[in-house]
Amino acid sequence: MNKHLDKYKKISDNIIKKAFVDLKGIRIIYIERKFKYFGKALNFGFFNVVMINPVLRTFSDKELKGFFAHELSHIQRHRDRGFFEKIFFIINYLFSEKFRRWEEREADKTTIKIGYGNELYAIMRKSYRISKWHEKRLKASRLSLKEIKFYTKKNK
Ligand SMILES: [Zn+2]
Repeated sequence: MNKHLDKYKKISDNIIKKAFVDLKGIRIIYIERKFKYFGKALNFGFFNVVMINPVLRTFSDKELKGFFAHELSHIQRHRDRGFFEKIFFIINYLFSEKFRRWEEREADKTTIKIGYGNELYAIMRKSYRISKWHEKRLKASRLSLKEIKFYTKKNK
């Protein structure tokens, strides 16, 4: 494990300890890989994979907290689904852009609910600056900065 993955795991474990007690002890594999997104959480039944773009090496700890809180939100949400809900989810996720957008925004709302609204705001603002492509994509699929601020305030 390289030192970056080591740091990521520590940040992620800390969020689990504080906010996702239910995820304690589950198997999460962290993989660093160049791909077009910043990250992705995948579920393979018995274990979970969080893929992390190496560009995140340049992100601050606060921004990384926002990143992992969002990815862990996906894992928690998937864990809370029953068997048929999981099948329904996978089919919709694969074929419906609208559904993927819904899931992304719900994961953002979960991130805020568990107390990482400011961190989510920080990583989103940083991500917009990485490239125009990322900015456009994130604006189309995730909560806006305004919405993050709004829900974070409401959550206090
Ligand atoms: Zn996501």
